[in-house]
Amino acid sequence: MPRAPKLIGARRKSKRVDNRQSASKRGYGYRWGKYSRQRLREYPECVSCGREAEATDHIIPVTGPDDPLFWDSSNHQSLCKSCHSSKTASESNGMKIGRDNYRRAGVRGYGG
Ligand SMILES: [Zn+2]
Repeated sequence: MPRAPKLIGARRKSKRVDNRQSASKRGYGYRWGKYSRQRLREYPECVSCGREAEATDHIIPVTGPDDPLFWDSSNHQSLCKSCHSSKTASESNGMKIGRDNYRRAGVRGYGG
């Protein structure tokens, strides 16, 4: 009897799904928290006002950890609480405009 070739996964469309997406689908999970704390030790000042930063912000808003820009360090900046919340507020007002502006500013990695 010839051995039948195994075809497990042969018809799967996903190319490489190597990050666990279920638990931390919304992003900002344990791994992000850890990364952010480390980064804030390296970059402790708010890039906007120079005060003590409390959050690592995504320059270009991301949808979650499967967004290619989520872990792109060129898309990270330290912000203090007040600058972060005002940025978040303006993003929810005009996210599309914001993305467009950032792209024009030449932030690497935004492929559309
Ligand atoms: Zn600030």
